[in-house]
Amino acid sequence: MQFRLFLCSVASVVFGVGFLPGSVSAQAPGVPSAAAALGASPVTYRISFPEPEHRWAQVEVVFPDAGTRPLDVRMSRSSPGRYALHEFGRNVYDVHAFDGRGRPLRFDQPDLHQWTISGHDGTVRVTYRVYGDRVDGTYLGVDTIHAHINMPATLMWARGLENRPVQIAFERPAGTKWSVATQLHPTDDPFTFTAANLQYLMDSPVEFGNFTLRTFNVNPAATIRLAMHHGGTAADVDRFVGDVAKLVREEGAVFGEFPKYDVGYYTFLVDYLPYAEGDGMEHRNSAVVTFTGSFANSGRRPDLLGTIAHEFFHSWNVERIRPRSLEPFNFDEANVSSELWLGEGFTSYYETLMMQRAGLASVEETAVELGRTIDAVVRSPGRLLRSAVDMSRLAPFVDTARWIDRTNWDNLHISYYTWGEALGLGLDLSLRDHTNGRVTLDDYMRAMWRVYGRPAPPAEGLVAAPYTMRDARDRLAEISDRAFADRFFDRYVEGREVVDYAGLLQRVGFVLRRRNAGRAWLGQVRVDYGGSSARLVEPALFGSPIYRAGLDQDDEIVVLDGEAIASPAQLDRVLERHRPGDILPITFVRRGTRTNASLTLEEDPRLEVIPLERTGRPLSDAERSFRAAWLNSRQ
Ligand SMILES: [Zn+2]
Repeated sequence: MQFRLFLCSVASVVFGVGFLPGSVSAQAPGVPSAAAALGASPVTYRISFPEPEHRWAQVEVVFPDAGTRPLDVRMSRSSPGRYALHEFGRNVYDVHAFDGRGRPLRFDQPDLHQWTISGHDGTVRVTYRVYGDRVDGTYLGVDTIHAHINMPATLMWARGLENRPVQIAFERPAGTKWSVATQLHPTDDPFTFTAANLQYLMDSPVEFGNFTLRTFNVNPAATIRLAMHHGGTAADVDRFVGDVAKLVREEGAVFGEFPKYDVGYYTFLVDYLPYAEGDGMEHRNSAVVTFTGSFANSGRRPDLLGTIAHEFFHSWNVERIRPRSLEPFNFDEANVSSELWLGEGFTSYYETLMMQRAGLASVEETAVELGRTIDAVVRSPGRLLRSAVDMSRLAPFVDTARWIDRTNWDNLHISYYTWGEALGLGLDLSLRDHTNGRVTLDDYMRAMWRVYGRPAPPAEGLVAAPYTMRDARDRLAEISDRAFADRFFDRYVEGREVVDYAGLLQRVGFVLRRRNAGRAWLGQVRVDYGGSSARLVEPALFGSPIYRAGLDQDDEIVVLDGEAIASPAQLDRVLERHRPGDILPITFVRRGTRTNASLTLEEDPRLEVIPLERTGRPLSDAERSFRAAWLNSRQ
């Protein structure tokens, strides 16, 4: 009710009653008067949901003091933390523009993302609808449960007014008791919020609905909030929040302090709903975590907690320790970054490490995860083509980008998450080995934090000292030595070599070994068994036995070694009776043509990591203490 009284004149505009000049610059009691202080009127937004069952939002935005030239109003093509283009303008329709007196204005659309509005009187008001039915970290999701709002997917903005303060109001659908969770600045009105500028506004997702809100404090000083749709019981929530607190504390211990959150607290927006996508998205003072399912029947709980660990680590690494390539975020084009192996990959490494240190993963589970990561990097053909830096720069092509043509990423690409996680592990263990345990990756992250993360930002939504590749190398030299840092960056980060994982893992009491030593292998390829054949449903990996035999995607294996291949069991039977090096006759059908060839089996090259004690040999005291220093809680 307070909300309707406060901005009633703007509310009337939404329903087409009229427009009162000047009403939009009215300040709510208690609204920070950033606009007045800066001498610039705020851009004001109002979002309502007249028909949430039909999955759209009504948006009204007023750009005051817009000068005399035509105003370029834009929808974003990208969203902070998402590296591919998503072309949000495609969900916008029913666009209208008015001047300060309510007169309709003409506009042109010079491209798909822009409305150029001319003939205005210094005030431009735009109304439009935007469709949104995806609950994740990138899009808008409107339904009768909630409005899950990612700003770039929802809000138009004006070129030239990016530094204006912003005021944004949310209107509840009729009959609901929804409330708002966000990192936007609150005001005395529970439905009205502010942001200092466009960068902060776009970085601030909103959960608007009936959610469970929990708050806890940790030392030295941080307040953490969780706004949750969860489908579970109060006990489920207690257990989950308790585990989140463990992760938050462990991560605070890595850096020795928590960031200074712009609003005084950090907020997780958790949507655990049957129809949500699995996603996590970091922001300056909040994160969106979405998953399919509910707390009540969740086998995905470790994934959900892992995502929490990942996104919260980003509140240091990426949100404040930020590469120059992502600063400021570009809403018109994809930001191309060479540093995602560090921003994303090291964050993934810490996700694994924090789950272990917080007691939420066992040593066995950690070994499995690290083994999977090492295996993916060591054996991927992509490593022969591109470095971890090169892979980072491909992010706009692979980060939830969807193409209808076929791609060959399994051969050409290694995820910067995976390679970066392997580099984080490699650097952590190399530092420990090189300094006999005196210096670790935690020291490196603290050095990066001290120089690039901690300095106060010039304005909220920005960082004071974004880093470059050179800076990342120099900070490593500071905490180790120049030769070590140059060798690591030259060979493993900017080069294409892999760290000696087997040797380094040995020192902490783990074994890197072939998962199926001595077993025959024809290549790693997914196969669809369609009755009388086995069809390859993805490109063959470069150099694998099946590739050398001349087979590739869509080819159907009919006979191998004289045996019809129409089931996994038949294929296994052939492999089990042979040794690596054996040459087998193979018959396959390619687009209707039957072909005979020969295939030379190799030893299964896949790798795994296991705790040393599982081999039957107990840990030595040195291995035990090295492992403890690495994996034990800092609490
Ligand atoms: Zn991430």
